[in-house]
Amino acid sequence: MFKRLFAFIVVVTAIFSISSCTEKIDNSEDKVWAWVSGSINMSDEKMEEYFINCKECGIDAIIMECHGAKPAILDSTTFRDDAAIEIISRAAQFAKKYDIELHAWIWTTNRTEMTLRKAHPEWYQVNAQGESCLDIKLYNREHYRWLCPSHPEVTEYLKDRVRELAEIDGLAGIHLDFIRYPDVILPYGLHESRGVVQDKVYPLWDFCYCDTCRENFKKLTGIDPIELEDPTSNQEWMQYRWDLMSKMASDIAAEIKKCGKVASAAVFASPEESKKLVRQDWANFRNFDYLFPMIYHKFYDFDDQWVETATREGVEALKAANNSAKLCSGLFVGHVPADRIPEFIKYVKDGGSNGICFFSLEGINHAPDYWTKLKEALSAVADEENNS
Ligand SMILES: [Zn+2]
Repeated sequence: MFKRLFAFIVVVTAIFSISSCTEKIDNSEDKVWAWVSGSINMSDEKMEEYFINCKECGIDAIIMECHGAKPAILDSTTFRDDAAIEIISRAAQFAKKYDIELHAWIWTTNRTEMTLRKAHPEWYQVNAQGESCLDIKLYNREHYRWLCPSHPEVTEYLKDRVRELAEIDGLAGIHLDFIRYPDVILPYGLHESRGVVQDKVYPLWDFCYCDTCRENFKKLTGIDPIELEDPTSNQEWMQYRWDLMSKMASDIAAEIKKCGKVASAAVFASPEESKKLVRQDWANFRNFDYLFPMIYHKFYDFDDQWVETATREGVEALKAANNSAKLCSGLFVGHVPADRIPEFIKYVKDGGSNGICFFSLEGINHAPDYWTKLKEALSAVADEENNS
């Protein structure tokens, strides 16, 4: 998986030291990635510390969150996401300094900005009870506000957000998170802590039954989906929603590529679980360079070995869908004990992942000894593959 990793880093460093390019972008090899939350309040010192630690540890690429759950900051008179632009512009300086790839992580269908909520409430998703996600607090989460992909204007709005970020000098790629419907069923390990019973699909959590979706589906099939007694058993209605989300994801990824950036997305753990829990058929997300299934296995109540199983299922689903995106397994640091990192690297490697991604740098920071153990594990893998 990490074959020729160090040789590759040397070559890339050499290429970039003699070229005029300012971004470190290379898709030819497997990499070690990590997610981190960016914040407008993060000091330069703190930001730089992350880049230094990644450089020393052997992490090649940072995916930095620059939008989400910060409605006060995002509220402005225009839709331009100035906070996101500022976060990524500052990080880009350190990305260049430490020769680490930087990807801007944005929220996609889940958009919290008050300007948008006020200007276009009709763009937001509606559940099978006819309630807009703007009018209820889904799962008691203030930030659960979901755009509906049936509106072409929604895709255009998101393309605008992509373009304004893509202008930042030194940015390697744009990473789409929440490119899905709200959880119709939460991952199984979370039901108790969130106080929900979800033994089947219930209308409260089943989206999107907005007027546009209902009309469009009725034109296609003659059926108003809100009248379906068991919507989940209607294959056409399921497919309609899967396809709608796949089309929007593919269109936004095409825009990222048009801007000359690496297109990636964080997706649910396995293709089948994703379709079932969040109506996300990511094997059919087109135009992406990378798809990162978040294989946070304990949230699903699965054992450690499932990391390998889910990785393999994802790789096979991409292949079956003739999708050229690379799969890179994402692991939850809290589910991967520091002294067992090599075992988990083996799971993703054996499952066929192209590289590995850790959630998150904050998690690594908070776990005692994690940086040291991760560095040891990554060095050992690189040494082993250099010698093979
Ligand atoms: Zn809709």
